[in-house]
Amino acid sequence: MVNVVKLSVLQRSWSPILDLRLKGAPRSVAAGAACEPELAFSVAKEEGMDPIKEQWVEERGRRTVEKLKAHDFGAVYVKTKEEAEEEIWRHISDETTVGVGGSMTVRGLGVLAQLKARGNIVYDHWVPGISQEESTRIRKAQMACNLFLSSVNAVTVSGELVNIDGIGNRVNGTVFGPGKVILVAGYNKIVEDIQEGIRRAKNVVAPINARRLNIDVPCAKLGKCVDCNSPNRICRIVVIHERKPVLSDVLVILIGEELGY
Ligand code: SF4
Repeated sequence: MVNVVKLSVLQRSWSPILDLRLKGAPRSVAAGAACEPELAFSVAKEEGMDPIKEQWVEERGRRTVEKLKAHDFGAVYVKTKEEAEEEIWRHISDETTVGVGGSMTVRGLGVLAQLKARGNIVYDHWVPGISQEESTRIRKAQMACNLFLSSVNAVTVSGELVNIDGIGNRVNGTVFGPGKVILVAGYNKIVEDIQEGIRRAKNVVAPINARRLNIDVPCAKLGKCVDCNSPNRICRIVVIHERKPVLSDVLVILIGEELGY
């Protein structure tokens, strides 16, 4: 079994990013705090997808799932986000502690609100007004949770995962630590290869996130990456899962809807 995780970490100060994210972060759930309703803006759902397109999406999704399985990942294709939620609940008990990575896809699901209603402990750092120390504490707690729930920036049709991060907790959780990892992704995140995945992360995901969080980086204005050297640079760590990490139990749920970005 070959298990390779490539890490490329640029050594820069990340505190400006953290400050900006805390000021601009959407409302969500803190460990032990009240849960917010589902975020209405987080999902661009295609109503009444054309049947031919739907068939193409499903074929592409199922082919990708088979490649992921061949790379030791757990993987499943579902048509809707509701089916994805059903799959997620199969891995949660009343005692499960849940860490949540920075993911619009996950926040487009109803799982977080229901977890709080059940009384599960949820470690989520996207809470406005919390201190930097508290945010850091939650991010560290995510590393030792029972279930880490997050997304990916891209999934290749060959069965690899691409993730780019600024602080690192989101990618850390997918590599080692949590008892189980579930990564949820809409079909819009399926790409041909790793290079396309990285381009997607830097030219689609980063500019949108930078605008959403009001972070002063060039891509927020230009809508594309210029490989900046800004102190606010949000993409500093690239993690590519070529295979499932040896000691991590990773399930990828691919959804036949456009979710997140
Ligand atoms: S412009 Fe800077 S922050 Fe934006 S994607 Fe490129 S390197 Fe990242």
